[in-house]
Order: sequence, then structure tokens, then C-alpha cells
Amino acid sequence: MKIARTVLSRALDLAMPSHCPVTQEEISAQHALSASAWGAAHFIEAPFCPRCGVPFSADYGGEVECPSCIAEPPDFSCARAVLVYDDASHRMIVGFKHSDRTELALMFAEWMIRAGNTIITRSSMLTPVPLHRWRLLKRRYNQSAILASAVAQKSGAKLSIGEFVRKRATPPQKDLTIDGRKRNVAGAFGFCSAAARESFLGKHVVLIDDVLTTGATLSAAARALKRAGAARVDALVLARVVKGGLGAI
Ligand SMILES: [Zn+2]
Repeated sequence: MKIARTVLSRALDLAMPSHCPVTQEEISAQHALSASAWGAAHFIEAPFCPRCGVPFSADYGGEVECPSCIAEPPDFSCARAVLVYDDASHRMIVGFKHSDRTELALMFAEWMIRAGNTIITRSSMLTPVPLHRWRLLKRRYNQSAILASAVAQKSGAKLSIGEFVRKRATPPQKDLTIDGRKRNVAGAFGFCSAAARESFLGKHVVLIDDVLTTGATLSAAARALKRAGAARVDALVLARVVKGGLGAI
């Protein structure tokens, strides 16, 4: 019965084209995005800051960090992003939020693994930037947790969900100044239990998020993980704000 249902659903998938979550164009079931949504995306390529991953307009030899990282080094070791956060990637992320198409998460995961190929190993522990449970209830799910699961599934890295938590609800970052953002997330992160805290001891942790804006949230999360004894904390996101691009989500 179960097999018959699977065969039937496959047949329906092939017979009925689905819609691109970004452009709403008809696409075949095996594709996650339409060609125009894909073509509009701006993928980040080298050269970029070796620390925070912000793209550079010239190649400085791979060792030189960007002015923000030199002025105020972030608490994570390295951050990498797949896409520039702009109109095209904003629509992709919103489309992902409103669709339950797992093939989209798996495609994003493949992109993230490629962008994070110098960060992720099989012994890395991936953990999503957590949402406070009230916001989780409102949003129904944590998009970053879905991305983290997909990246773990495709890369073979370890996954930790629900152990690293947001202890207090923080107002959304988007209307705050840079200093306001830092204050807003300071001390916001913790662990669901003493055992959960211990599970990060000595680990290489990779924080997974959908968008990096100023890096204040990732820095606060990295600080909490390092206080718990994590050996190294990196970050991997789907899109990052680049100066002159679209602001916060
Ligand atoms: Zn930098």
C-alpha cells in the first residue's frame, strides 16, 4: 500500500509541474528553482576577506582582512556565505520560508557546502543560530535549523539542534544600529542543560544561519560557544549583506 502510494505520488509529481517559489513560474518537479530565479542570484566568489567572507573588488593575496575585521575582529574564526544578500536572494529566502519544498533546502545545502569547503569537515558540529521558543512558535519552524539539517545530511558532519538555545527573546535586529545590535544579542545565548553545554567542549562548531547582516548575532553566539569550551567556531550562511546591498531581512 505504501509503495503504491509512493509510486502514485511520483507519477503525480512527474505529471504535474510545480511552481518556482521565487518567480512562481512553472518548473518540472526535479528542479527546485526556475532558470530566471537562478540566473538573478549573485554568488560570492574569491577574492574575499579570509575572516568574514565579504567580497573584495581586488585580490590582496588571500591574507589581508577587511577593515571591519581589522578594527574589530569578530568572535567567530571564519564566516562564509553563498550569495550576496540582495533582491534576488531576498526573494529566494522568502520563497524558501513560505514553501515546504525540501529539494530547495537540499540545493541550498549543496551551495553552502561548496562555499564552506574550507570550514566543514565530517567531525564539525553544525548548529543553527537558535530562535527563542516564542518566536519559534510564531514562525512554526527555524529556517536555519532546516538548513543545518540539510547541510549535515549532505556533508556527513554532526548536527546539534535544540541544545544551543536563545535564553531570552530579543527584539528583531533589523531596525537597530550596529551598537544596538550588539547590545541586543549580548548574553542572549546559552544551553538547554549542563549536558548540552558539555557536548560542545573541544568541538569545532559551525553556526548555520540564513542571513548575515552585521555579524553581531553570530559573534554573540560564537562567544557563548567558546565560553562553553568549543575549540573553534566558524559560521556558514546562505546570504550576507555586502555594503551597498539590501539592508536587513
Ligand atoms: Zn572581514
